[in-house]
Amino acid sequence: MKTVDQIKFLGKKALVRVDFNVPLDANYHITDDNRITAALPTIKKILNDGGAVILMSHLGRPKDGPTEKYSLKHVVAHLSDLLGQQVQFADDCIGPQAIEKAKALAPGEVLLLENLRFYKEEEKGDKEFAQKLAALGDVYVNDAFGTAHRAHASTAVIAQFFPEAKCAGYLLAAEVNNAEKVLNNAERPFTAIMGGAKVSDKIELIEQLMGKVDNLIIGGGMAYTFAKAQGGKIGKSLVEEDKLDLANDILAKAKARNINILLPTDSIIADAFSNEANTEIAQNDNIKDGWMGLDIGPDSIKAFSKVVESSKTILWNGPMGVFEMEKFEQGTKAIAEAVVRATKNGAFSLIGGGDSAAAVAKFNFTNDVSYVSTGGGALLEYMEGKELPGVKAINE
Ligand code: AMP
Repeated sequence: MKTVDQIKFLGKKALVRVDFNVPLDANYHITDDNRITAALPTIKKILNDGGAVILMSHLGRPKDGPTEKYSLKHVVAHLSDLLGQQVQFADDCIGPQAIEKAKALAPGEVLLLENLRFYKEEEKGDKEFAQKLAALGDVYVNDAFGTAHRAHASTAVIAQFFPEAKCAGYLLAAEVNNAEKVLNNAERPFTAIMGGAKVSDKIELIEQLMGKVDNLIIGGGMAYTFAKAQGGKIGKSLVEEDKLDLANDILAKAKARNINILLPTDSIIADAFSNEANTEIAQNDNIKDGWMGLDIGPDSIKAFSKVVESSKTILWNGPMGVFEMEKFEQGTKAIAEAVVRATKNGAFSLIGGGDSAAAVAKFNFTNDVSYVSTGGGALLEYMEGKELPGVKAINE
């Protein structure tokens, strides 16, 4: 994939699609700026080359055009601080002001455009809208991995207007390289740790991984669908009744392929979905009526950790329990610690977006694993073997 390293930006205006879809509090303060800091290397590289940067992004899911709550102007001050220079802002992403400001932009300067999703044309992938955006810059750079699985105007459609001058930013390239490394270049033993609430969200990924992994660890809420499918008593634990056959199918396939599949043998069970609940340890196939499993138990932690620590490649997607509540965070934390130990011993560990990334951040392990993906849905789709429109548009 062509990256910013292969383009000379001197005197050029680079139109860079970033993912600045950051969480804001009620006073419009950014509560987590990871997505912004992740885009800085690309921005700085272009500026250092002597180019100018025009940034475009979405923020939230505005329904009816311009909305104060979703304005990217809330990001300008913090971005200026991070870059050490004043970032300009255009209060529309197309139209006279955007054109004026883009035109006047000098080398070394940065302009942020207003939220792309204030136009419904963005998500519709409208070609005319994409062309208006394209007219603002000389080179198109996509560094928005988090939206690379969407064929929107600014993430994919726009690329056709830069047949010779389009490339990936460092973040997009790193995400794709790390996903590739795990999917097609994994050192063995390769262990996938799947967790989270639902089997149905992860089924395609599990099927895809079955052709690749040596060990498949299944924890979190989805494990109870497997436990019930095997005839266990799971009380009020999370279950997808319509996925019982599928769970048995997965177990049979894993066995046929000689994959070491690990399900929890014990759970921390609770009499309510609450941090105030009474808790006990129970066998996974014998959970009391009215109680629910909200975390993996100590035996499962031991067995899972042992496999994780002997692995050379680890993919982790989804927490082992309701880690947001202190009473049920232990399983996820212990597995995170095992991933960290494996990484220290030379394993490559990829943490797959969303809730697993939040868990790793909660326990302060973000810098102790090999890579934490910034894209939840995008990484999942890439891992499922789907072509991401944002990546395809760059490569075409
Ligand atoms: P996902 O988005 O599918 O990765 O699911 C993540 C969510 O699953 C987190 O918010 C967890 O709190 C939740 N979760 C994990 N384990 C359980 C469980 N045993 N019961 C209910 N929810 C769970």
